[in-house]
Amino acid sequence: MEYDIAKAAKDYTEDAVNAIRRLVAIESSQGAAEPGKPFGPGPYNALQEALKISGEMGFETKDVDGYAGYAQIGQGEKLIGMVGHVDCVPLGEGWTHDPLGGEIENGRLYGRGTSDDKGASVAALYAMKIISDMGIPLNKRIRFVFGTNEETGMKGVDYYLEKEGDFDMGFTPDAGFPICFGEKGSYHGYFSAPTNTRSAKVMIDSVSGGQAVNVVCNKVVMTVTPGDYKDQLITAFSDYADGNSLQFETAVEGGKLTFTLWGKAAHASTPELGVNAISHLMMFIASCPLFDSPFAQGYKEVIGLSYLGENCGMKMEDEFGELTFNVGVINGDADNVSASIDIRYPLTIKKDDFKVLSDGMEKRFGEAGLNVYESRVGSSLYKEKDSPMVEALYKAYVDVTGDTENKPYTMGGGTYAKHFDSIVAFGAEYPGSESGAHMADESVLISEITSSIEIYARALVNLLNI
Ligand SMILES: [Zn+2]
Repeated sequence: MEYDIAKAAKDYTEDAVNAIRRLVAIESSQGAAEPGKPFGPGPYNALQEALKISGEMGFETKDVDGYAGYAQIGQGEKLIGMVGHVDCVPLGEGWTHDPLGGEIENGRLYGRGTSDDKGASVAALYAMKIISDMGIPLNKRIRFVFGTNEETGMKGVDYYLEKEGDFDMGFTPDAGFPICFGEKGSYHGYFSAPTNTRSAKVMIDSVSGGQAVNVVCNKVVMTVTPGDYKDQLITAFSDYADGNSLQFETAVEGGKLTFTLWGKAAHASTPELGVNAISHLMMFIASCPLFDSPFAQGYKEVIGLSYLGENCGMKMEDEFGELTFNVGVINGDADNVSASIDIRYPLTIKKDDFKVLSDGMEKRFGEAGLNVYESRVGSSLYKEKDSPMVEALYKAYVDVTGDTENKPYTMGGGTYAKHFDSIVAFGAEYPGSESGAHMADESVLISEITSSIEIYARALVNLLNI
């Protein structure tokens, strides 16, 4: 009799939900490192629980020094790899369900990590269980790797790769279905310059703004010593803000004048959806003759209001999209200002080629008086849409869901896939489904857990046949 994968996925759903609840009960955002626990006790304890669950399921397991761990079946030279993560973003506020409780309501399982990425990881683990139950001859090893530092730097998988090497093929269940076959490359860095020159009529005392380097800055605050120019400054600032339809505030206290300027937040990979408050403040400072700020002058020259990198020679695109350039965070006192750069470069450009271009960009920053420091270039990821691996995975999704409307896609964000040469991101969020990953009341539909188990099991069968 032929093995019924769909039925097995249904039958295993209850066990999978229980396993997810065991992992969700462990608060696993990054904490201070302890001996043997490089990302703190939370991620470590979640890793140990994941390995325990894997052992109970009959898998061979290995702890890779607390940085990662894996469960494995099969034998053979080739290795099919899946990699998810057991760390989470902090619980945060605003929950109507216990974030660690694994409560079930209206067919949804609630809790931090139920979707990202404990739920998806457990679904893939049960897919591996189905392959093992099927008793089919395994010509390859199949491994599920538990990462512990996805949300805060992905250092755990870098350690894993160093120790254990890459897979031959596979996926990370940590994005959206149907399948992501390309991710833009990244560049992160900081730049700085003096805040004022001695000849400035008005001195800037401090400037700060931004929530994260990968978010378009939505609010920036600057305090200055206005001297005799208070009214003139307020007028100039109001004119600039009004002229650009920006919300603003001014406040006077103890001889200091504070400007607050609002933009609009957006993810750094889609800066066209936001309005960068830092860029506008710098353009205002650079345009107002009462200031003399090397930082703002340099900013105007090489960045300006652009989020495509035109002014520093970085504008480029391929068939999948344009390079994006975001300044997310700024901080400074009367001496020095520094700000962050987050670039997503087109996914068909190789890291080494981009490095040549970004070196040129840093030189241009230098010529504009801005010193770039702590910069690093991250890889891009691109797999042909019709490569055997991408087709094998996509087919599993279509076979289970019948959905041919949603096509394989690319993105500007980054998953574990970029750290490996062998894999792409594949599920487990469904198009149009609201999981609330990273937010309050994160949840997953239990029926989606069932279909994810089935999709991943079929995907593994397809990969075994490559
Ligand atoms: Zn994730």
